[in-house]
Amino acid sequence: MTAHLIDGNALAAQVRAQVAERVKVLRAGGVQPGLAVILVGDDPASAVYVKHKVTDCEAAGMRSVLERHPATMTESDLLARVRALNADDGVHGILVQMPLPKHIDPQQVIATLSPAKDVDGFHVANAGALLVGQKGFKACTPYGCMKLIETTGVALRGKHAVVIGRSNTVGKPMALMLLQANATVTVCHSGTADLAAHTRNADIVIAAVGRRDTVRASMVKPGAIVIDVGMNRNEAGKLCGDVDFAGVREVAGWITPVPGGVGPMTRAMLLVNTLEAAERRLA
Ligand code: NAP
Repeated sequence: MTAHLIDGNALAAQVRAQVAERVKVLRAGGVQPGLAVILVGDDPASAVYVKHKVTDCEAAGMRSVLERHPATMTESDLLARVRALNADDGVHGILVQMPLPKHIDPQQVIATLSPAKDVDGFHVANAGALLVGQKGFKACTPYGCMKLIETTGVALRGKHAVVIGRSNTVGKPMALMLLQANATVTVCHSGTADLAAHTRNADIVIAAVGRRDTVRASMVKPGAIVIDVGMNRNEAGKLCGDVDFAGVREVAGWITPVPGGVGPMTRAMLLVNTLEAAERRLA
């Protein structure tokens, strides 16, 4: 059996088109959703990510403001910029690109964001809203993973999901979203004694580790849904995920590729959150 491929590029294109339609409605009413992106330093990967975020916004008809600051920017100057954008009515969403230079505390920056503009969903108010099942902004990567899982048509009630990784930005919110969708959830991490024992029982496996070949064919239950969040490089410098794609696709029922799976959906969900930030302000 070869797994069905879950096409993140195709789904992201659909989401972007839906966002663009809703943006048209807002613009007809005189409101253009706006995203401000702050980049501190000159990390080349971060520069590529923010460029994509800005072009995605513009393609959807949104306004985007990119602020680039030198790596020497002080934490207090960055916090002052965040506060200024919090107060700017033309800005509906604010994203501070991570990682930040070592002298800046990312938690301090996230805490300074207005929760109503925290379209990454990282502020404790939004993370807490997810925890207690209230409305808030959902972290884009796990939110995108949920949309990818939805395309399989598999109902999550009664299913066992194993999330590998417990970061605040991916693993933990992923586990909460799956729980909210009535899956029975296990969270694995570097202290998990026998990872394969958990994944072999999983109907859904989410790999968010950052180490390639963490999930191999022998660890996957036949027919399972496998979502690969990882972004790594192989010896040839080629982008790959946490899952041994060639092996696992022969066992799984559905699988996301890297690239072309979770990555484009993370970007698409940022647009959804920015749009919703603008719509909520009007509500
Ligand atoms: P992270 O903060 O480094 O977290 C990695 C998690 O993996 C940690 O919870 C860690 O456990 C766990 N882990 C490490 N080794 C393990 C092992 N051998 N077995 C089981 N668990 C293990 O990373 P992240 O930010 O969550 O990102 C994870 C991956 O997703 C990275 O490759 C990142 O680049 C990628 N990513 C992709 C997207 C996208 O849009 N495609 C978005 C975000 C992240 P401990 O907590 O015990 O240390």
